[in-house]
Amino acid sequence: MNQAQIKEVTTLLSTPKNIVIVTHWSPDGDAMGSSLGLYNYLIQKKHKVTVITPNDYPAFLNWLPGNNKVIDFSLKAKVAKPLVAKADLIFCLDFNSLKRINDLGTEVEKSKAPKLIIDHHLQPDGFAKYMLHNVEACSTCELVFDFIHLMGDDKKLNKNIADCLYTGMMTDTGSFRFPSTTYRTHEIVAALIKAGADNSEIHNRIYDDNTESRLRLLGFCLSEKLTVLKEYNTAFFSLRADELKRFNYKKGDTEGVVNYALSIEGICFAAFFVERDDAVKTSFRSKGTFDVNLFARKNFNGGGHAHAAGGQSDLSLDESVIKFISVLPEYKKELNKKIKK
Ligand code: 5GP
Ligand code: MN
Repeated sequence: MNQAQIKEVTTLLSTPKNIVIVTHWSPDGDAMGSSLGLYNYLIQKKHKVTVITPNDYPAFLNWLPGNNKVIDFSLKAKVAKPLVAKADLIFCLDFNSLKRINDLGTEVEKSKAPKLIIDHHLQPDGFAKYMLHNVEACSTCELVFDFIHLMGDDKKLNKNIADCLYTGMMTDTGSFRFPSTTYRTHEIVAALIKAGADNSEIHNRIYDDNTESRLRLLGFCLSEKLTVLKEYNTAFFSLRADELKRFNYKKGDTEGVVNYALSIEGICFAAFFVERDDAVKTSFRSKGTFDVNLFARKNFNGGGHAHAAGGQSDLSLDESVIKFISVLPEYKKELNKKIKK
């Protein structure tokens, strides 16, 4: 957003409005943290605000302040549609292409409301009037913090906002260990803790809330489902629907599993394939120079960031894995570059 746009948005938000916040399909910690962080900011300015998600998200995010007001479009499209249609402003958080919100995208596109993207993913589509976009930001939550500052509302930062934004910054940076973590990340985290974010408690709520079956599913993945392809410095997991069922799978149970493949010495590319009702969902992670955003875009109809991306495949699970292995030779040189220690 340039100065003139910042002024326009500041003016727009200076009187009560109907505001809708939407975030991406299968929302994660950053998607929900940024949406509810922004929600808790905007309600202080007397706006009528609704957060709409395209579908459900993991239960370990249900404690976030404002969570009980969120509308799941896949369950309540009838309630959500008029809110989108009548909105004065629609915030699009943690995504930048309407494809990422599936059927909800049609409603957002139809609505006459101006759209404002706050996001840190690469290659944004040009569907929004306003955009606070920075691929260097560790998370969308970091940019929501910046947005509140740009609106001249630093004083409105309260514990509810801080808890939400801390959650997204922590989850999107892998607890502040990914290369996206900068001094700026820590500066903002300091401000959030000062404003009341309960950093230790948030970590417990997100990461120490495993069910026994989730932990056993992880154990099963590690011992039975891991394939290592040394030639390509690549490792991956693939999970069938019946295996998910066996471990009483709940949304979010496989989140983070892909990182275990990337933690193997010498591995610079990790993938995870899981059989879902409609398609095979893929997750990609990398270390060093290998760009998984490009890989996901080219081969699995997806995208994301250079080191963390996802996509999907209409092929069967086995065929998806075969396709994955068959394209690796194209990337052999890149995958064999030494990772800087
Ligand atoms: P995950 O593997 O955790 O689902 O996603 C990793 C990153 O890639 C996230 O930033 C997520 O937003 C992005 N991502 C996941 N799936 C897709 C997809 O199908 N399309 C695009 N464009 N991005 C995705
Ligand atoms: Mn994010």
